[in-house]
Amino acid sequence: MVAPFLNVLFNQDAVYHPMPWSVSVKVLLNNFNYHLGQYIQVYGQLNALTLISALVVVMFFLKNLFRYLAMYFMAPIRNGVVRDLRNKMYEKLLHLPFAYFSNERKGDLMARMTSDVQEIEWSIMQSLEVIFREPITVVLFLSTMLLMSPQLSLFVFILLPVAGLMIGQIGKSLRRTSTKSQAQMGTLISNIEETLGGLRIIRSFTAEVFSSKRFRDINDRYRQLMIRLYRKRDLSSPLSEFMGAVVLVTVMYFGGHLVLSGEHALEPSVFIAFIAIFSQLIPPAKAFTEAYSNVQKGLASAERINKILDAEDTIRDSEHARSLTTFERAIEYNNVSFAYLRDGEGWVLKDIHLTIEKGKTIALVGQSGSGKTTLADLLPRFYDIEIGSILIDGHDIRDVKLKDLRGLMGIVSQESILFNDTIHNNIAFGMPEATEEQVMEAAKIAHAHEFIAQLPEGYQTNIGDRGSKLSGGQRQRLSIARAVLKNPPVLILDEATSALDTESERLVQDALTRLMQNRTTLVIAHRLSTIQHADEIIVMQKGEIIERGKHNDLIAREGVYKRLYDLQAFA
Ligand code: ADP
Ligand code: MG
Repeated sequence: MVAPFLNVLFNQDAVYHPMPWSVSVKVLLNNFNYHLGQYIQVYGQLNALTLISALVVVMFFLKNLFRYLAMYFMAPIRNGVVRDLRNKMYEKLLHLPFAYFSNERKGDLMARMTSDVQEIEWSIMQSLEVIFREPITVVLFLSTMLLMSPQLSLFVFILLPVAGLMIGQIGKSLRRTSTKSQAQMGTLISNIEETLGGLRIIRSFTAEVFSSKRFRDINDRYRQLMIRLYRKRDLSSPLSEFMGAVVLVTVMYFGGHLVLSGEHALEPSVFIAFIAIFSQLIPPAKAFTEAYSNVQKGLASAERINKILDAEDTIRDSEHARSLTTFERAIEYNNVSFAYLRDGEGWVLKDIHLTIEKGKTIALVGQSGSGKTTLADLLPRFYDIEIGSILIDGHDIRDVKLKDLRGLMGIVSQESILFNDTIHNNIAFGMPEATEEQVMEAAKIAHAHEFIAQLPEGYQTNIGDRGSKLSGGQRQRLSIARAVLKNPPVLILDEATSALDTESERLVQDALTRLMQNRTTLVIAHRLSTIQHADEIIVMQKGEIIERGKHNDLIAREGVYKRLYDLQAFA
């Protein structure tokens, strides 16, 4: 458009003859000029000028309109991809087995869900447009150049791949650095997360200076990695521009030779147009290499994200999983052995036999570390066993739908797991259909209603992070209320009172006793006085059952249980 414009202004006498249409720059330009000449003859130069000006404005308007439209439609794609990624990761985290989390840092997982996803949005999504658009531009320019002068184009075709290879090398190195820096961001977030959780300890041990130094070190290491990253990333653009210039000079040098040799190997006008087009080639090529670098940077994050998405969730419904909505007879542990590490060593449970009949209370006692929690965790399939089997009403728990299996159980553990939400929502957790009356009823059974009623906002009081606005006993009674509301046939109590003072322990124990009525219970007790009425007491040591029986029988036997009992009785 600009060429004809100048033509109209300065080259008024030139006369063009129509040529047969073909894909050649010369022909296209010539024919356009011819038609423009015709137009000038009919309407005059000023009108032609107006026409050209209008055309140029229209062209630019269209160009930018379409560019905006492209962005407009890209916005939902970019953000949709990022949203889907986050959703998928969250979904995955909900289902991954506990064993997975033992080997990962919480902060690093958080970093992957936040900063890595963000990185993908910025680097890969940002570059999508460029990566699709610029190659088309480059190919168009290159084919035009090929049409104009095959000899000169040869240089371009040889030199450009060389430049491409060099840029590719930078990209690879960039990706390695990016992996490191994202991992460092994970360490950083882990550190923040740990600090927030451990502020009490940090302050009481006056470890502020130590913590601060550790954070500074981690942060500084991140800074170093990021400097390296930016320097590498920023190298690709100047490098590609310089290489472009080298190719350009080479082309000019040899093209100039061809023109100057005077054998009409190359017409000066075509040569100039060739150079002009070649210089147009550099910006898109530069944009492309820049986008390539960004994508490499983003791919490092994509790999970290894929590590989560590809992690195997071993604990899930088997293909022939049956549904099981009621518990009728008994739970049986047959020959169960278990180790956290799959290396054949470190058995945490050895050859466990155990039957829990419906309606009975079975108590587990034993030293800390003897495997009581592990034994209980196997029942809701928090971990899967490889040796032995656990049956519920005769069905192997691995053949029962997970949702059904866990639906049969209520768990109250030593630390109460509460969420930063209202009391009502914490009690009704996982049961959104529960009414206010039901929640209140559950709270009454759990001895929680009294203290809740005294709070200014009652059941709508927010309890803070992990229930930090409540005392330990109050938190535990909320957990119990939650179990009461769920009303499961099988109850697992893992040292539910051991973190409490005597006063609240009495209240909580009372709540637990009510909860256990008419239920099948596996209770892990820390205080033996609370389990004297259990139907069977199992004494564990180093993963094995060493004594079992009723309280009175065990006392009469003068064994480990008697010793433990005496220790507590005289304490
Ligand atoms: P208890 O509840 O009787 O105190 P646990 O069942 O919690 O004992 O632990 C039994 C043994 O298993 C301990 O030696 C402990 O070190 C080990 N253990 C517990 N949890 C894990 C885990 N997630 N990964 C590896 N080993 C574990
Ligand atoms: Mg335990």
